[in-house]
Amino acid sequence: MSFYLYNTMTRNKEEFIPANKNKIGMYTCGPTVYNYAHIGNLRTYIFEDALKKSLEYVGYKVKHVMNVTDVGHLQSDGDEGEDKMALGASREHKTVWEIAKFYEDAFFEDCKKLNVKKPTVICRATEHIEDMIKFVQKLEERGYTYESNGNVYFEIDKFEDYTKLANLSIDELEAGSRIEIDPNKKNPLDFVLWFTNSKFSNQIMQWDSPWGRGFPGWHLECSTMSIKYLGENIDIHCGGIDHIPVHHTNEIAQSEAALGHKWVNYWVHGEFLVLDGGKMSKSSGDFLTVSKLEEEGFSPLDYRYFCLQSKYRKQLVFSFESLKDAQNGYKALKKKIGTILTNIDETNNINKELISGYQEKFKTQISDDLNIANAFTVLNEVIKDGELNNKEKAFLIEDFDKVFSLNLMTIEKEVIEVDEKLINHLIEERNIARKEKNYKRSDEIRAQLLDMNIEVLDSKEGTSWRVK
Ligand code: AMP
Ligand code: ZN
Repeated sequence: MSFYLYNTMTRNKEEFIPANKNKIGMYTCGPTVYNYAHIGNLRTYIFEDALKKSLEYVGYKVKHVMNVTDVGHLQSDGDEGEDKMALGASREHKTVWEIAKFYEDAFFEDCKKLNVKKPTVICRATEHIEDMIKFVQKLEERGYTYESNGNVYFEIDKFEDYTKLANLSIDELEAGSRIEIDPNKKNPLDFVLWFTNSKFSNQIMQWDSPWGRGFPGWHLECSTMSIKYLGENIDIHCGGIDHIPVHHTNEIAQSEAALGHKWVNYWVHGEFLVLDGGKMSKSSGDFLTVSKLEEEGFSPLDYRYFCLQSKYRKQLVFSFESLKDAQNGYKALKKKIGTILTNIDETNNINKELISGYQEKFKTQISDDLNIANAFTVLNEVIKDGELNNKEKAFLIEDFDKVFSLNLMTIEKEVIEVDEKLINHLIEERNIARKEKNYKRSDEIRAQLLDMNIEVLDSKEGTSWRVK
């Protein structure tokens, strides 16, 4: 079965053909670790996680590489704004290194709560400075750079087709990118590869280089590290749509200039999460995090469910009301599944044909540019299907949850309470078995109840039970 992906480069949904038969190289731009990730950032990581798991579901092996931007000033393109890492350090009375470590850990903690799987390779910018220097040297050898007032710039006019990803004219790119007027640049869209003369003169994170002591430009790390870990021809590169006109455009320019050939085959971008009232901004300090959602009574998986209900290529408007709706939807789904899981007859057979029919349906949806909303429809068909027994349903639910990652096989305690009738019936049956000294049967029932998270307690007064 073919897998289709919308490729930003061609503006088309295309059949996905990996560069190497079954092993896919996937690169996703990672977090800048000077503060907590906001739920907008996390929407992008959830979409990327679902994409990776969908590819794995249909049979591919995925090598996933993600960078961690642990140098705050790499955040911006030019030399304007604030050094966010230094700002974080002074705000919290820590060193920049401590800030980076703290927020990197916090980021992966959030990912864990959202069932976002860790990438195969996580690479920090600060650990790849040597590689970045070599990369700039290569660009220098190939004639794409110039030095001006202590900094090394990439000269975009030397690179043919600089605008191909954004599909905009140079003027439109300039108008949209709010770049600071920099008299050192030949073209306002030229970008820095290496700073030695920065406005951040007391910068702590600095390294020696052939051009003097300084630090790399922001875009350099993604090109350098993705090529280092995934080779010169990468299947998929992801990120949020904000990265199209500047960051990814510059990544392409420097990578293809250094390599001398096409670099990434499929560019896949996630649309933004926006607030009812507007944009979500990490630098403003006032933004929603996973912890804030938890404080409001939502679980991280309520949020994952909320994100998965809408197409990754559509803007998603966040409000607590719509999150509440998603929470209710997710609860109702878990309740239905809980009833199935607590009523499985282990002696039932599994009809392989029925199962694979549903698996194919599921694959068709996820392979259609990640149509997760329709994949949920397939799940609901399974739940309702009168022909399938509960053992078959459980098998399929567990199988689909490899992509959804919503802990669908974990039975919630409240679901069990609903099945009190069944529990009492089993306890009754066990009491009879014990009276008849049929301990084999009574042990079987105890085990069955334990599978349902029910602990049986025997005492002089009789038998009782409780949820574990
Ligand atoms: P950052 O940590 O700012 O570099 O962003 C990490 C990722 O989140 C990038 O892929 C961004 O494109 C993405 N991103 C930033 N803001 C949003 C948003 N509001 N909604 C969805 N993704 C976003
Ligand atoms: Zn990047």
